[in-house]
Amino acid sequence: MLTFVPKQTVVPSLLVLWCISFEGVDNAALQAIGVKNSLYDIPGLGERPLMIKAYPAVENYQSDLYEVYAEPYTYDLRAQAAIVVLQGEGENDVKGEIMFVQQHPPIGPVLIRGNITGLPAGRHGFHIHQSGDLRQGCDKLGGHFNPYLLRHGAPTDPIRHAGDLGNVEAGEDGKAEIRIVDPLVSLSGGPRGVVGRALVVTAEVDDLGRGGTADSLTNGQAGKALACGIIAYIR
Ligand SMILES: [Zn+2]
Repeated sequence: MLTFVPKQTVVPSLLVLWCISFEGVDNAALQAIGVKNSLYDIPGLGERPLMIKAYPAVENYQSDLYEVYAEPYTYDLRAQAAIVVLQGEGENDVKGEIMFVQQHPPIGPVLIRGNITGLPAGRHGFHIHQSGDLRQGCDKLGGHFNPYLLRHGAPTDPIRHAGDLGNVEAGEDGKAEIRIVDPLVSLSGGPRGVVGRALVVTAEVDDLGRGGTADSLTNGQAGKALACGIIAYIR
């Protein structure tokens, strides 16, 4: 999440507001801990708190970007969990189960944990694709999930596809253990929602957009899919 927190001084207040708005703290309590009235008494909103997710501007590329949420929320604010059962493409015996958990949707980070077995040793691209339609296996899933129409990058880059989760690394035994905290994807609805889309592990390493070719800025030259699965709600 830190990658996307802008440097403006107003942000700590916004983050505090976000943190405590889930605990039913009232206006007086907000003021007591120094949250500015102006963030709370928004004309037309009464005493409804705002949740704001902020993304910094990138010079010569994009302006500051904000997502602002106010009651009545159109998303379920309770913690959400989803599971991916990865199945090998074709003859591959790649398998895995990957859990996605978002404690505070729609703006909190998502914890991605799990294991993959049967991989060739080394690093492999790990991406969420636009579609979750597996009728043609892992082949026709569209590009990397890219709601903001940006270029391919590393998970830590301010400019990246939302679906860019970087690489996973398998040992000589073919096993990869995954533990990622991603600030951008979400399990709620909205522009960054990934439930219903496909998670893919690729044959080659993702160059994270540093390869110097057009493909590098599209898919990291990560090669064909070894395995894929749909991100599906658990409850
Ligand atoms: Zn990408």
